[in-house]
Amino acid sequence: MPDDLLRVALPAPLPQLFDYLPPPGVTAAACEPGSRVRVPFGRGQRIGVVMQRVACSEVPHSRLKAAIALLDEQPLLREADLAFQRWAAAYYHHPLGEVVSAALPLRLRKQDQPLPLREPVYCLQVPEEQALRAVARAPRQRELVVVLLRAGADGMARTHLRDRGFDVGLPLKRLQEKGLVGVRESQSVSGAFVPRSAGHALNAEQTAAVDAVRAALDGYAAFLLEGVTGSGKTEVYLQLAETVLQQGRSVMLLVPEISLTPQLQERFAQRFGDMVSVLHSGLGEGERELAWQRARLGLNRVVLGTRSLVFNPVANLGLIVVDEEHDTSFKQQEGFRYSARDLAVVRARRAGCPVLLGSATPSLESLRNVQQGRYRHLPLTQRAGGARPPVIDLLDVRDQPLLAGLSAPLLKELARTLDAGEQAMVFINRRGYAPVLACYSCGWVSDCPRCDARQTLHRASKLLWCHHCGSQRRVPAVCPECGEADLHPLGQGTEQVEDFLAGRFPEVPLIRVDRDATARKGSLDRLLARVHDSAGALLVGTQMLAKGHHFPRVTLVGVVDADGGLFSADFRATERMAQLLMQVAGRSGRGERPGKVLIQTRYPEHPLLQTLVREGYAAFAEAALRERAEAHYPPFAHQALLRAEANRPGPPDEFLHQVADWLRQLPDMQVELWGPVPAPMARRVGRHRAHLLLQAEQRPQLHPVLSRLQHHLAQCKGARKVRWSLDVDPVDTY
Ligand code: ADP
Ligand code: ZN
Ligand code: ZN
Repeated sequence: MPDDLLRVALPAPLPQLFDYLPPPGVTAAACEPGSRVRVPFGRGQRIGVVMQRVACSEVPHSRLKAAIALLDEQPLLREADLAFQRWAAAYYHHPLGEVVSAALPLRLRKQDQPLPLREPVYCLQVPEEQALRAVARAPRQRELVVVLLRAGADGMARTHLRDRGFDVGLPLKRLQEKGLVGVRESQSVSGAFVPRSAGHALNAEQTAAVDAVRAALDGYAAFLLEGVTGSGKTEVYLQLAETVLQQGRSVMLLVPEISLTPQLQERFAQRFGDMVSVLHSGLGEGERELAWQRARLGLNRVVLGTRSLVFNPVANLGLIVVDEEHDTSFKQQEGFRYSARDLAVVRARRAGCPVLLGSATPSLESLRNVQQGRYRHLPLTQRAGGARPPVIDLLDVRDQPLLAGLSAPLLKELARTLDAGEQAMVFINRRGYAPVLACYSCGWVSDCPRCDARQTLHRASKLLWCHHCGSQRRVPAVCPECGEADLHPLGQGTEQVEDFLAGRFPEVPLIRVDRDATARKGSLDRLLARVHDSAGALLVGTQMLAKGHHFPRVTLVGVVDADGGLFSADFRATERMAQLLMQVAGRSGRGERPGKVLIQTRYPEHPLLQTLVREGYAAFAEAALRERAEAHYPPFAHQALLRAEANRPGPPDEFLHQVADWLRQLPDMQVELWGPVPAPMARRVGRHRAHLLLQAEQRPQLHPVLSRLQHHLAQCKGARKVRWSLDVDPVDTY
């Protein structure tokens, strides 16, 4: 029998694929795997992807429906892409339809017609005043004139204008008729590569790293590039990318968060010009689709992006780089909970190209892979350009009076640094003014009504605000319980430290960097430009300050509180703390002057903190790995977390107990079960949450059990009373 049925992946939370007859008038042979089809589904229609053509179906032929239309004549996804998605769906035990759908840009999940790659570009062709005068009474034309004015000689593409909500219909046509706006066709980059500027002459360690990866470009190999901040990792990426481009192949560069890496982007753009495309969250749907298509077709061969980029069908992959590989934002924390870092390694293996994981503070998982010989270790121990490593000291603040959380020795050091005309940075990992507002008369605290958490005091905006669910209320004038007028902020956030330092050092430019201060687009760039322009300056901020940016004039970093991570219930907390501290420390002394880092703590004797400060991250990581091995925690064991939540506390608990009982009776079950227990934050956004942890020493013990569990859950009645999810290799239990 010929394969004349289509097996289609549809975005639905169901594990199976769906069989259809080809659309009327189209042969199955024309519907190649990887092409999209529009199909009837339930009472509506969906866009799905043909995964396979088959000869027969479990559904009787008489009940099979025909697809409505074939949307792509050429498949959008190649067989290799589909196979990779199948692998990911199987590994994470997530519905294949949702995985395949996640690999497509949003617009192609909703719209039949792909956008044309070549499109009109509009450009103002008369002087500013003349144009504005001519459209004075036509507001929509005026809007267009203003935006085209800003775009200058480059003009703006149609998709770009449409994504930004401009009317590209009649008003644009009028402007052309009046001769104010000219049109040309967008250039399609040929995909040919001309390097724009030469790189640095590499130092010995950089050379060794580049040579090792270059020698391995013909097949799969995994490398861990471990180098302190400023050691020249980015330069290594750049020079390897150049080699790969010269071979005619493409480079994928995954970063944790695009907005935090403007300098990285800039350096790639400077080196490779038009070859580079950046998939960032500021792109509109149409632009995103075009960027996705251009990478797929090899028109842009250096593609930067965040985690979903790992599914992009980039043409002819020659190298995958994962920068800041330890960063937990590579793990998607909802829906399809994949790790882009881990999938990058799988993708490289399947594509037959090397993968390079870079970090100043590698994850314990990657270091374990080095120990086991799966990854090759490429160390960069020197700061490139000759900058010296910072001196790190612990400040014991046990019996110290603190002002806005800052001790006298830290304040003194800040004053000394600023007096010398240098820049200093104060790091506190909490935004807002104070994490709690309290009444000392009756004991009232600013609890969130929907979470087991407090609402943070934001003084500038006069709000109490829960950082977990977003609930907000105005700061009460008096205690809501007892009417007391004197309410007390407890603890510190960035806003408070900023206020205090502004009073203390009124003559020094002070810049706060956190999510509140940079919420508006472009404001981070503006803040950073101010730092680069001033001699003495004070920076106050959260971990946003710690990532990616280069501040050559900062010579002192103060860490307000290092203790949060030391005694957490989460076994990964110390690793996180160490990574963050090193990252923060790396901000100091990147220029010619040596830097200093002062860390305030109430536990200066804590052994891991001591190891970290005296001997550095590598020694810390070794000690932390030994602790993990003794405790049988990952990476010495493998975990999956079954979470459940509901509006009442009962159902999640009952459901998880049922599942645990079912799991225990499986034949040769070699998976340990921990729980069910309430989640660390047992109530969040008004929902009660619990989880069951599954752990095994070997993956082959765990994954078959997860497969059976997945099937069980699809049928189990109890599962319908809760919202559940399965998280393979969880990085966070909260
Ligand atoms: P990382 O990515 O590890 O933080 P970078 O690649 O950004 O390090 O390098 C830090 C600084 O040193 C940058 O300003 C970079 O231009 C410079 N640099 C890198 N490699 C060299 C080199 N071989 N010689 C001189 N300067 C270098
Ligand atoms: Zn009160
Ligand atoms: Zn809340």
